[in-house]
Amino acid sequence: MWPAESSTRHPDAALLTVRGLRKSFASNRVLASVDITVERGKVLALIGPSGSGKTTLLRCLNGLAIADGGTIDVAGELNLDFAAAPSRPQLAALRDRSAMVFQHYNLFPHMTVLQNIIEGPVVVQRRSREEATAEALTLLDRVGLTEKRDSHPFELSGGQQQRVGIVRALALRPQLLLFDEPTSALDPELVGDVLRLIRELADEGWTMVIATHELEFAREVAHEVAFIDGGVILESGSPAQVLRDPQHPRTRQFLQRLL
Ligand code: ADP
Repeated sequence: MWPAESSTRHPDAALLTVRGLRKSFASNRVLASVDITVERGKVLALIGPSGSGKTTLLRCLNGLAIADGGTIDVAGELNLDFAAAPSRPQLAALRDRSAMVFQHYNLFPHMTVLQNIIEGPVVVQRRSREEATAEALTLLDRVGLTEKRDSHPFELSGGQQQRVGIVRALALRPQLLLFDEPTSALDPELVGDVLRLIRELADEGWTMVIATHELEFAREVAHEVAFIDGGVILESGSPAQVLRDPQHPRTRQFLQRLL
């Protein structure tokens, strides 16, 4: 498998820099002002209560939702200023740099596993079907799902579907992997395989933002943990700092409830 993205023309720039990101749905202000920075090869775990804006933030980072204000910079190469309404090519470039793994997998139900994986590379990225298929098969082999290549999603367990979801994201060769509570829809016995795969990707140096309720996993895998509440990052720091010695009362309250 190809390595995670490493060298770029701006080696000093963080892979992702978000400043003052805002997003409302009608009068519901969901992201009030979000600042995050993720260095290359690092993992940011995003924790926070339900409705705090985690999914919306990830969707904004992926260009699936368009922020109302603030900036997103990727690798010092792509700078989007949402106060000035980014152009279509800029949004397309943002979508191309990242790939999302969804809570409910979001595989295309009418397509086989292999078709699900090569759809983006072939249709959106215009890569050759042969090359995309070869890469997809390498990735499927890696996650032990080669024999499922011609199955449809409904024939797979939730854990298998999510591993296909992760392979589908990797097949896009993104600089940034975004995970939206990747294990929260899974039966407990299926969570381990998916977390193990994400941990391997972290070890390989993929840059990732992971919204998760798996605090033990966040503690082990993340380089930084950010606590979001009411659309604002209230606290961020090393896993030990935020999870073991939280400073903000809301972080303490949130963690106590999960214990
Ligand atoms: P979390 O992932 O932390 O649970 P979300 O980002 O899913 O939080 O949701 C935050 C708030 O944004 C919720 O109040 C939700 O109802 C609202 N919201 C999210 N997406 C939409 C949408 N497409 N239209 C209207 N409201 C939305």
